[in-house]
Amino acid sequence: MKKKWNTYLRVLGIFFRVVPGTAIVTLVHYTIQGLFPAVTALLLARLFDAAEIGAESLLFYGMIYLAVYVAVSFWNFFAGIVMETGADKNQVNYRYEICKRFAKLPLIDFENSELKDKHQRAETCLYQGMLHRVTRSSFQMAIVGVMGIVSVSLVLAQYSLWFLPLCLLSVLPYVIARLVRGEKFYQTVTAQAKKMRRMQYLWGLFTDRRTNKELRVFGADDYILQQWRNARDETQSEIWEQARKDAISFVLCDGFRIIGYGACIALALSLTLSGTVSVGVFGACIAAFAALQSQTMHLLISGGSLPASLAFAADYFEFVDLPDEPSCGVSYSGLKNRVEIKNISFKYPNASENAVTDLTLTICKGEKIAVLGENGSGKTTLTKLLLGLLPVSSGEVVYDGLNVNDLDKTAFYRTVSAVSQNFVRYTLSLRENIAISDIDRMNDDAAIEKALNDAELSNLLDEIGLGAELGNAYGGSDLSGGQWQKLAIARGLFRPSEFIVLDEPTSALDPLIETEILEKFIELAKDKTAVIISHRVGLCRLVDKIAVMKDGNLVEFGSHAELISKNGEYTRLFEAQEKWYK
Ligand code: ADP
Repeated sequence: MKKKWNTYLRVLGIFFRVVPGTAIVTLVHYTIQGLFPAVTALLLARLFDAAEIGAESLLFYGMIYLAVYVAVSFWNFFAGIVMETGADKNQVNYRYEICKRFAKLPLIDFENSELKDKHQRAETCLYQGMLHRVTRSSFQMAIVGVMGIVSVSLVLAQYSLWFLPLCLLSVLPYVIARLVRGEKFYQTVTAQAKKMRRMQYLWGLFTDRRTNKELRVFGADDYILQQWRNARDETQSEIWEQARKDAISFVLCDGFRIIGYGACIALALSLTLSGTVSVGVFGACIAAFAALQSQTMHLLISGGSLPASLAFAADYFEFVDLPDEPSCGVSYSGLKNRVEIKNISFKYPNASENAVTDLTLTICKGEKIAVLGENGSGKTTLTKLLLGLLPVSSGEVVYDGLNVNDLDKTAFYRTVSAVSQNFVRYTLSLRENIAISDIDRMNDDAAIEKALNDAELSNLLDEIGLGAELGNAYGGSDLSGGQWQKLAIARGLFRPSEFIVLDEPTSALDPLIETEILEKFIELAKDKTAVIISHRVGLCRLVDKIAVMKDGNLVEFGSHAELISKNGEYTRLFEAQEKWYK
């Protein structure tokens, strides 16, 4: 209960902070809505009675009634626009908070499928408009409901006290239905988080150009389409089942309400026949009772659906409140002596085995280290641990005596550059694709052109120029896989960092170009400390040391000559590859 109350206060606080104008208009609007039925009932009673008094009186009350009606209609129109626009603005703010959270989450959280479910639930909350519903429902309850019920009840109580219990009883089923149905809807939608993600994933296979191509070639498009249909039918049938039960419960509630309305007409009629009230008041009573029923119904429905809306809102806040990447503030200005990797081990959250086990090695400033090993031997994981992108399970990574976890991450990342095998193909201009790694030099044409030349992309530069859009999402020039890889290397080199990590960024290039690029890279990085993951042993003659990985362990570490003389794993890999190129 306390959690729901805190969630409610938070949603309300955000509403008043983000769109204060809309909040005030909403308050005024619901106040008018609350008072309107009572005012209407009083005016109607006067109007019906005026018909008996004379034409002048009828005209007078008729004009007042019309003026109130027109003024309220205009206000409703104006308030509708303001409230709609404010709701959109508020929704954008909530979405922005989700983006902000993604930017600050520790990378390790991305390995966790629980995070994806939490994100899906936060998105569902936004998609269903639940945060907006919380404010709207509570305002409706507190203002329209309470104010409307009190004011109309006061009017009706003048004629008979029976109207109020009659009204409450006739609409009570709505609240019970809303409480039960709202909870069921929340449970259904929440349980669907994983299924919804799967559906989006399958859909993505069709909309993504590369996967779509492969599906066609394999003739698997119909199969995946069927999978998507099955997933959709499964989720939709659960929602439709809920909608069916909702509809039945509403029909029953409506039946109850109509019986109550009939009882009200009978009561008003008996009061009129007994001479307790005039004919004008009889008409007004019936109108006021209908208004009272509608107000009470709103109050109960809003009250009944509020717990479910708050549960959705709590899910949203659970996601946006996830903790930031921890960052301690030890300042760092670049490597001075060495990086020591001391007995580190790491296991991915959903894995049963360590990806890296008890690994120790030292990288001295200026050294070029190649990391070699078969697929799955832990090379990529090692580089992520080295850069503090993943937290070690045990051991430590120490830069000049400072644990990487204790460094000010912003300052630290300013001194490193990395090119991963899953590099990004930015659908931006050629210039931006390079300079995004150092945006302060976005207009340094000479440096950008040099980076392109160094990565053997001078032809591309001549052909399309720095301003050309890349990727075909908006009709720009698309590049070959190899060109995208060279671009990623150029981007990594453009960043003025003294420590650089290359994670197999050359695998899409043919062996000759690959060797050429890597040789060039080693030459360009001569003043830098570099760690290069490569499956190409040819590179190993050019580097200072080679780390050979196997099953998450560092099995050999030393120069090419040292490792060859050991005649171990490195020699095996070296000889196997030499045969391919003979
Ligand atoms: P390499 O770069 O040498 O191919 P990786 O570092 O990518 O090896 O992977 C090392 C081990 O960790 C492999 O067994 C791989 O299956 C596992 N692994 C890699 N990424 C993940 C992940 N995100 N979640 C779980 N296990 C992973």
